[in-house]
Amino acid sequence: MLVAVGLAVAALATVVVPAVVERALDGLAANGATVELERMLPFGDGDGDGDGDGEPGVADGLLPSGPVSPYADVPAIAGLEPDLLAALRAASDAAAIDGVEVVVNSGWRSATLQQAMLDEAVVTYGSAEEAARWVSTPDDSAHVTGDAVDVGGWDGAAWLGEHGWAWGLCQTYANESWHFELRPEAVGGACPPMASDPTAAH
Ligand SMILES: [Zn+2]
Repeated sequence: MLVAVGLAVAALATVVVPAVVERALDGLAANGATVELERMLPFGDGDGDGDGDGEPGVADGLLPSGPVSPYADVPAIAGLEPDLLAALRAASDAAAIDGVEVVVNSGWRSATLQQAMLDEAVVTYGSAEEAARWVSTPDDSAHVTGDAVDVGGWDGAAWLGEHGWAWGLCQTYANESWHFELRPEAVGGACPPMASDPTAAH
């Protein structure tokens, strides 16, 4: 009996694991590289004091341990514009009722963190022009003003893409399915048209 159960578990594992991996890879391919980039950035230990010495840390909005709840007590969440944060929390509560978890991969960022991400993106994408399609400058980024939030996981972003308008939460760039900003007029029924990417919005 135990052997049979063991075999059944093993058989299940061989079916389930590849599906999960495949889905994760599909998600990456469909959603681009920004979220992964944020997790992989070589920020060293980060002194976290946000003093602009080029070492971004938690105080700069970095989430070194990965995604957090919209209710987390960290600068990346606390720095969000209050109306955006309230909308995000209300929407995430509604998503939870649907059985979907909405987490935050990146919220408010200091100019230091944004610049570090841009520097890294230039290396990753090979040119400043291509990097600008994925990571804005500190002057242009809505994350630096607390007006943008990058959500996950893939289910959470998809849920918000479908239902977020009811709270004025809109995907603003066609190439960033995880990036949401507050568009209060959307509460009337629909989000405004998206820009193709951040360079097209400026
Ligand atoms: Zn974003």
